Amino acid sequence: MALSELQDCPCPACAAVVPAKYFASIGSEASEAILTDALQRITCAACGEVFRTEPALTYSDTQAGLWISARPADMLSDWQRQETEALSAFKESHGDAAPKAAQEIGAALRPRLTFGWPALREKLMITEHGLNDTAVEMTKLAILRNRPGNPVAQGVELRLLDARGPLLDFGWITSRGAEPMDFFQVQRRLYQSILTDPAWQKSSAHLPEQGFVDLQRLWISPAVGGS
Ligand SMILES: [Zn+2]
Repeated sequence: MALSELQDCPCPACAAVVPAKYFASIGSEASEAILTDALQRITCAACGEVFRTEPALTYSDTQAGLWISARPADMLSDWQRQETEALSAFKESHGDAAPKAAQEIGAALRPRLTFGWPALREKLMITEHGLNDTAVEMTKLAILRNRPGNPVAQGVELRLLDARGPLLDFGWITSRGAEPMDFFQVQRRLYQSILTDPAWQKSSAHLPEQGFVDLQRLWISPAVGGS
């Protein structure tokens, strides 16, 4: 069941205060709206600007076995603390202290943490196409190593955008706004070879089995300061 609330949000174009719907908890009924970049998209009544508020929600799809704590893009640099929080929230809902039915549901869920809409959308895309998210991350590592001209920069991220037949569509897009920078395709057999290659499985040991399953954890340093 979706839980949402209205909050006042300043329009980024004209600063008018716009009532914006924020989802706190959603399920598979929202997956289409996430895949089409429609969820939490708002039109300013004063100036017509269309904008999107950042996600701060829990996505849970028991059918697909997916649980995601989706947090705003600008929290990425604080991913270590966010990961601890997200996994303890998952444990609270589905761990030893939770009701038995909730524990049983939790046993079939893969807990994940994402920052910004593109990363959340990607996890849903991966699930929809029956792919393995760790192997997708390792495919990105192969792309980073072997493809020339990757526009690596802060605030830009490499995401799987679609999977069609023998091809996987990847793109470098901005973390906020999902603006496209560079689109390209990769043969699905690259992903397949990584999925079944023991050497790649060994290097995937740098990625955890749950939580922030994203290559960004290998190079985004935790925020300075904090507690
Ligand atoms: Zn406006």
